[in-house]
Amino acid sequence: MNFLDYLNEIIIELDGYKIKYSNKTAKEYGFKENIEIINVFTFNEIDKLIYHIINKKDYFIETTIYFFQGSSKFCKIIYLSNENKIIIEDKTEKELIKKVKSDFITSLSHELRTPLSILKGNIYLIEDLNKNNLLIKPINNSKKSLNRIERILDQLSILYMAEFDNYIIKNELLDTNKIYNEVISDLEHKIKEKNIEVINKLEVEYLNGDPFIIYTLLRNLISNSIKYSYKNSKVFVTISKNEIIVEDNGIGIRENEKNRIFERFYRGVDSRKYAKGSGLGLSIVKHLCELAGYKINFKSEWMVGSRFIIKIA
Ligand code: ADP
Repeated sequence: MNFLDYLNEIIIELDGYKIKYSNKTAKEYGFKENIEIINVFTFNEIDKLIYHIINKKDYFIETTIYFFQGSSKFCKIIYLSNENKIIIEDKTEKELIKKVKSDFITSLSHELRTPLSILKGNIYLIEDLNKNNLLIKPINNSKKSLNRIERILDQLSILYMAEFDNYIIKNELLDTNKIYNEVISDLEHKIKEKNIEVINKLEVEYLNGDPFIIYTLLRNLISNSIKYSYKNSKVFVTISKNEIIVEDNGIGIRENEKNRIFERFYRGVDSRKYAKGSGLGLSIVKHLCELAGYKINFKSEWMVGSRFIIKIA
């Protein structure tokens, strides 16, 4: 064993694009000696790395890397031209934890405090009113608060799974119809309640991706479109080879709220009046897109409608 084999970082020495030497960690990720680096991993700007290798210039980037053996990680990549070495440091966990740590606990306790104090008040009321028939209102209020806490916890557990567990992304062949129908049947009561017509355009039979990620992205976006649509309206879902698009003719997003909708616990002024929510749905969508290396965009006009587009390839 060389001392480099004791390091957690991937260390590769190159000869052209071929790997001349790889340490133990590098070998675990598939960097075997004598094969070309582009056969082991890729990332959005790999052409820039290649350019720097050809021109013998130092290079540095922090990005999500896809290893062809199946995993993907958020990494710091450094190319040292004078030594012709690449060093890759896995920053997935650090990055994700950094993102949530700062405001996580404060937001969580703040968000849970309101429904909890409503519950508490109502329980005292129930105690006082125990002997007559006036219990319906406090009981219903308590139920609503309990549901709200439950919704926050549901979404938080998804967030927790995606952010802290160092989630390893699977790349599977997914049956588009099946995954779409699962989402729709999960949202069925919301769809019926508002008499929404969900119109789908499933352009591909199969999709490559992680089943949990694709399901959650679809579910959260379609659920929002239903929530923020008027009764008896239509929601459009397109799944093509490259994109997932969810579109509605609903309440839209105010211009001054557009840069906040992906924040954890943020809820628009109108949406608070219009539908229940935890303010976590889109922050989960954003994190999952980052994990999977997808790009998310949206267009929205207040009182006209919204269109969310995820580029999946
Ligand atoms: P929630 O829906 O629980 O409030 P989200 O994180 O899913 O939380 O969304 C954050 C905010 O973004 C919503 O409160 C709403 O203001 C806005 N929003 C998201 N999707 C839509 C949509 N399809 N139409 C209008 N507003 C939307």
